[in-house]
Amino acid sequence: MQLPSFVDLRPIGRCNLSCPFCFGPRHEVPSMTRETALRIASVLQQNSVRGVVVSGGEPTLLPYLAELSAELRSAPPSETPMKLVLSTNGLAPLPVMERVLPHLSWVALPLESADETEHRQLRTGAAPHRDRVLRLLREIRQHHRYVRVKLGTVVTRRNTAGASRVLDLIEDDKWLPDVWKIYQMSETSYGADNGDWLSVEEMEFEEVVARCRRTAADRGVRLEVYRNSTRSGSYFFIDPDCTVVVIDEKGERRLGDFFSLLAGESPAADVVLAERNVGNFMKTYPEL
Ligand code: SF4
Repeated sequence: MQLPSFVDLRPIGRCNLSCPFCFGPRHEVPSMTRETALRIASVLQQNSVRGVVVSGGEPTLLPYLAELSAELRSAPPSETPMKLVLSTNGLAPLPVMERVLPHLSWVALPLESADETEHRQLRTGAAPHRDRVLRLLREIRQHHRYVRVKLGTVVTRRNTAGASRVLDLIEDDKWLPDVWKIYQMSETSYGADNGDWLSVEEMEFEEVVARCRRTAADRGVRLEVYRNSTRSGSYFFIDPDCTVVVIDEKGERRLGDFFSLLAGESPAADVVLAERNVGNFMKTYPEL
């Protein structure tokens, strides 16, 4: 099996939030061991993977995250290190983040709504989540300028009013993200459990996107949009139990164990389309 250029590594399902739209692995799934995670990092290196997004669950809960990040970024002197993105909910204490930040190219942080009630309905399990994300954003902008920031906003039926005003929470232009990405909520994992009260119709989603475009343009922030209709063929996830998960027209498809697939022929891996995989990553985490 040939690996795609960009891989989403999800070594942990556990999280200190319980967002009802979460599309990650189930929280109770045991985490990947340190040894396995480092072995995967080394395989990704050897196979010239160009970029990895480490997510979960909440990856900052992994005791070996800094070591894994360093391993992913280590490359022979003649080669360019891969791009490394940490997708985090922003709740980790600063000392934890400071061990990881030096290895990162990008950090992805979430903010769902300028309206506090809307935000609390969607980022459940810890308070005050929004303030802690904003504090971390300021800290990164002030002291870690070499790390780019992507802000993500998942649009559900519950935050159609406040999603487009998320940038209003960032008063000073100095702290604005490099990219703001608007996600259409997808009915995957916990999102499937809660689709009846969270899913947003196409037309309503496009209205939110149009409003976001105006606010992004006003503040000079680059806007990207994720639509469920275009996700097929873009992603190659490696889950905590080492299962490779891809997305095709019908939804998530579990292909099998990463190491077994790597050793054999797997036509199913063709579900990842090079153009979509590269396009999705490079638009979300562009060269700036
Ligand atoms: S969406 Fe992210 S922060 Fe929320 S429960 Fe899932 S992994 Fe945790």
